[in-house]
Amino acid sequence: MWTDDTATMQTMSQGGSKSASDAPRRSQAGSTSLRRQAYPAAVERLIAEFARLPGIGRRSAERLAFHILKSESGSALALAQAVRDVKETVRHCSVCYNLTDLDPCPICADASRDRGCVLVVEQPKDLIALEQTGMYRGLYHVLMGRISPLEGVRPDDLTIPDLLGRAENPSRNPGGVPIREVVLGLNPTVEGDGTALFLAEHLRPRGIKVSRLARGLPTGGSLEYANKAVLADAIQGRQAVD
Ligand code: ZN
Repeated sequence: MWTDDTATMQTMSQGGSKSASDAPRRSQAGSTSLRRQAYPAAVERLIAEFARLPGIGRRSAERLAFHILKSESGSALALAQAVRDVKETVRHCSVCYNLTDLDPCPICADASRDRGCVLVVEQPKDLIALEQTGMYRGLYHVLMGRISPLEGVRPDDLTIPDLLGRAENPSRNPGGVPIREVVLGLNPTVEGDGTALFLAEHLRPRGIKVSRLARGLPTGGSLEYANKAVLADAIQGRQAVD
């Protein structure tokens, strides 16, 4: 039955319709269902790969795949090369876990920065957002997440042991400089606050001043979406955790 319908549609779309007003619409529907059946394996594979990306459903994946098919081969291959390069050359800094193609990263390697001050963030994109304000001249530490008992994320699953190691042993901090202050730049969420509390409790006994970014940031929001002015205020107005 399905084959018959398809054959009818095919005939209609191939033969064209002379006068029936609903024929073009039916023929369109038919060609859509035919197209879906007839993707070459390589196209199906591309669609499947796009569909694995966050926020991309099957329809968006199809649109992206057709965009690639339509675009000049030069720009499509540039995309493929960019994906390859990012996987082959970009890694996490062995000191601060920032994304970098050099190790240590340019921030950790910059001797003109204040190496006694470390700003702790959840993700590399938070670091980028803060760095773009141009207001901060210390170092960073990227946790690669936050403590979340509900999701089973424990301190040891993050880079917290490395941060405590930097705080404990100056030789693990760039230039061998002891850390005197840690600024907590976690997202203002329940989990971010819990992580900040955990870090403060473990850093203060080591004689380190612990501060946090001021609450100009919206509760429940994300650092990456805050504008530069809000981030600049947050850095300048940071407060001790009591
Ligand atoms: Zn680094």
